Amino acid sequence: MRVLEVFEKAGLKPRPGQVEAAEALAGVEGDALLVAPTGFGKTLAVLSAFRSSGRLPVLWLVRSLELGSRISGDALRLDLKPFIAAGRARSCSVKTDDPEEYCLINRSRCPFFQNLKEGVPDLFYTSWEEIPSHLCRYYAQDFYIAAADVVVQNYRRRVVGSYRAVVVDEAHNLLKPNIVEIKGLGEALDALDALNPELGEKIRGIINKGVASIDLDVIEETLIVYREEFAKGSFMARRLLPLVRFLKAASRGIVYREEGKVMVALPPWRPSIGPRIYLSATIPKPIEDLFQAAVIRVPSEPRKALVVGDVTTKYGEETIWGYMKLLSSLKKRHKRILAFATDRIIVKLVSVIDFLDEKPPDDWRGLAMFNVFGRFSEGVDLPADAVVMVGAPFLPPDVTERLRKYYYRMGIDPDNAWWIPMVTATLQAIGRATRSPEASPEIILADYRFKKFAKYFEPVLHIQDS
Ligand code: SF4
Repeated sequence: MRVLEVFEKAGLKPRPGQVEAAEALAGVEGDALLVAPTGFGKTLAVLSAFRSSGRLPVLWLVRSLELGSRISGDALRLDLKPFIAAGRARSCSVKTDDPEEYCLINRSRCPFFQNLKEGVPDLFYTSWEEIPSHLCRYYAQDFYIAAADVVVQNYRRRVVGSYRAVVVDEAHNLLKPNIVEIKGLGEALDALDALNPELGEKIRGIINKGVASIDLDVIEETLIVYREEFAKGSFMARRLLPLVRFLKAASRGIVYREEGKVMVALPPWRPSIGPRIYLSATIPKPIEDLFQAAVIRVPSEPRKALVVGDVTTKYGEETIWGYMKLLSSLKKRHKRILAFATDRIIVKLVSVIDFLDEKPPDDWRGLAMFNVFGRFSEGVDLPADAVVMVGAPFLPPDVTERLRKYYYRMGIDPDNAWWIPMVTATLQAIGRATRSPEASPEIILADYRFKKFAKYFEPVLHIQDS
């Protein structure tokens, strides 16, 4: 069936460019990257390509499962069977702090798992949430996954079944490290001290080194202590949990400290199965090349961004007073200003900030500041009159140095480790205020270094002097 027929059969009128993009995609045999602006209808274009070519089933990876209902809705419109699959933490029916560990120890005795022996309803479910609650929804999902045309799940969930293609939504997330702040570590280490002081001392030593990787032996030893406590049902297991989560993350990434906080940079990655179809609205040309895929780019107008050239957050040259003046003057010109910076800079600007790392109310006014690597820097819609990057968000030099090997393993020149995280973090932060095509906030890049990197933002941002 031709792509246009797929749309017509579904009673849909394609948007301009959708049919052409879908036809181009249907013609690619290997990996492909579709870059199209927000509002283009990438999901329908991709699904219609699969429907037209019969290349099914397909695995659809999303950063957050909240996007699942949009994909599932579009699949249903094209007469495809979707299923949204959740990880164990979300779908386990047992109330426990640590479903992974609980399941590892208790699965054979788990009543929800036992109930699976009676079989699962032979009905059409579109999501794990529709599975009856007396069953283990986590394992029951495998049955519905096997019957689906489009399986939507998180980037890192276990892959069940085999697929004709893997779609990666918001693919700009793949090539940048994911920065995670670890909370509750101090208390967890105190708990470990009470059980195994030597081990506690060892982990403190590693964290205090600044930038570090954690030995597998240390992780194993800590897991043994934790599992003993968990199996006993001891309250110490709950206290140790942040440490266990930290070590699991640390085993995959780079540990570092910033402003007293412990952070883990989880490295860039790519799905190990393919062919992969990458989707994004904000991939500039230099990053596009790193995907090593056939590129289908839907032309769109670049947004204008102004560089403020007399300020910087470069280590040792920070112009905090300059940022104070800039933000204060912007507050006089605009009602709602979004600003993004690293924690190292935010702590020095608190006197001009009205909302710090919290979602402002609907009728907000003033300056809302967010950590550029924090939870508000992606996936959230924050309309504003101006959006400001307070400094070019380069990672600390030691972290960047260690990231090089991860890019090398992906077949990407490690020298790119310097600019990829900075460019992707900037575009994602700006994207919070430019999610709808109608939004046109003033975009300000407040750091002279942005000018040097202007070509890395084309054609998404067109960078000019202010
Ligand atoms: S078998 Fe299912 S319900 Fe039981 S602990 Fe494991 S994931 Fe949870």
